[in-house]
Amino acid sequence: MASKTRKTFKFVVIGGGIAGVTCVEQLSYSLPSDDVALITAGAHIKTVTNYKQVAKVLEEFDVEEQPASVLEEKYSNLTVIHSPVKRLHTQSHLVETEDGHIYGYELLCICSGARPKLLSHDKPYILGIRDTDSAQDFQKQLTKAKRIVVIGNGGIALELVYEVEGCQVIWVVKDDAIGNAFFDAGAAKFLTPSLGADKPKRVAPCKRSRYTTEAQTFTADRHRRGHDSGHTEPGSALGPDWHRDLVLKGSEEASRRVSVEYQCEVEKIFTSEEMLNSQSETHTLDTDEEKWPVYVKLTNGKTFGCDFVVSATGVTPNTEPFLHGNSFTLAEDGGLRVDDHMVTSEPDVYAAGDVCTACWEHSSLWQQMRLWTQARQMGWHAGRCMAARVLSETIELDFCFELFSHITKFFNYKVVLLGKFNAQGLGSDYELLLRYTKGQEYVKVVLQRGRMVGAVLIGETDLEETFENLILNQMDLTEYGEDLLNPDVDIEDYFD
Ligand code: FAD
Repeated sequence: MASKTRKTFKFVVIGGGIAGVTCVEQLSYSLPSDDVALITAGAHIKTVTNYKQVAKVLEEFDVEEQPASVLEEKYSNLTVIHSPVKRLHTQSHLVETEDGHIYGYELLCICSGARPKLLSHDKPYILGIRDTDSAQDFQKQLTKAKRIVVIGNGGIALELVYEVEGCQVIWVVKDDAIGNAFFDAGAAKFLTPSLGADKPKRVAPCKRSRYTTEAQTFTADRHRRGHDSGHTEPGSALGPDWHRDLVLKGSEEASRRVSVEYQCEVEKIFTSEEMLNSQSETHTLDTDEEKWPVYVKLTNGKTFGCDFVVSATGVTPNTEPFLHGNSFTLAEDGGLRVDDHMVTSEPDVYAAGDVCTACWEHSSLWQQMRLWTQARQMGWHAGRCMAARVLSETIELDFCFELFSHITKFFNYKVVLLGKFNAQGLGSDYELLLRYTKGQEYVKVVLQRGRMVGAVLIGETDLEETFENLILNQMDLTEYGEDLLNPDVDIEDYFD
């Protein structure tokens, strides 16, 4: 191990995304006389701004990409180091960075996020979207595109197909409805007409998502090149409204044209040359005679030509740099297993955000989803647990892990998800109540033995606080029956 410098910090946090930055802020604030280092691959960090506690658990915030100096100016005990970690030695409590430095730690928190699961890593016409660079690359390629194929049915695919204009989008989903990761077929039916309608015009001015100075541009470029593999270094995952300051427009004048291919997956991807050479295969080209750079054969027998493919099929926890020589226990999804104090299986190593898998016994109303709300909550909880350890204090699992809650926007509708919003893990032991007004709102309540255990609220329903309360207090609602969703009953007064 050739070392250039060797400095030991009380706390080292790896990753400048929401989880890492929140953890660092918590530590720097709670223990101002202990030194904290944030080691991150990207040149910028993600900060949480405009934080709003909407109800007991529900929260809303913006995410801004900022220069790391913003944090260093705020906390005098914090040092930010811009270099990817290439090796971790948990026995000796040392971290080795790409630029040849070695840092010691007493307590470490890994917040290195996740990487998109790409259909293929070595094909230039398959794009994944994770960070600002990849989103800008996508935007650039889109300006020349007439048709793209989007694969996947999660949040990123949902946002993307809605935002892209001037380009035909073939959307390939393996389920029988869109947005399967977030809601059921009823909600999908409510949202689908938006794909055929014009998008409302933007009125808000664009936010600046990236702050760049000469020096930072240099650092970013240097690290982005990666080392020997030509791979780029991962930046932080994009935050909410990531597409707001990108014009996602293809080469054509027409507005949005999305067609969905349901219940199928990608069987094979060909370049135009491979397509010509594969005489033996029969392709049902679902398109005109136009020549495309790439062709996608689906399991439903159709083959579509397109300019490029967007692979939005989920993420894999970014654990790779930390595994060699250590014995972390990994969860089935590849994340670092953590307990209710965000502690991994390695001594003095914590983890938070997309890189970890919550392996404590969850509350019956919570589940992990790799979302920015949970990245913030986990980073914050990890920071508190690490500080409590140093102060020899005991700490309970934070209240935010009692109830799953998430506020987002899909197809320009506000979407609130609470608890077991999709009846996850309830088997057939549940009832649903629905209220549906086309183009306006979709309200679904999941009840189990008379108690509310989950809800999906789409549109301006104004029900989130009341429903959050009803789920948290597990009141028996049997006697209210369908009045629970009766629009003529002011439900807030009802339960006051
Ligand atoms: P990240 O934000 O990925 O941060 C990881 C950090 O680790 C980065 O700073 C990276 O540079 C650094 N790093 C990685 N490897 C190393 C290394 N070896 N050494 C040092 N540093 C390293 N969630 C929502 O809730 N709502 C949404 O609408 C939403 N939309 C999304 C849209 C897109 C396009 C994407 C990609 C994600 C979206 N998500 C959304 C998910 C959300 O962004 C993530 O769950 C969240 O940002 C995870 O935060 P994190 O801090 O764990 O990881």
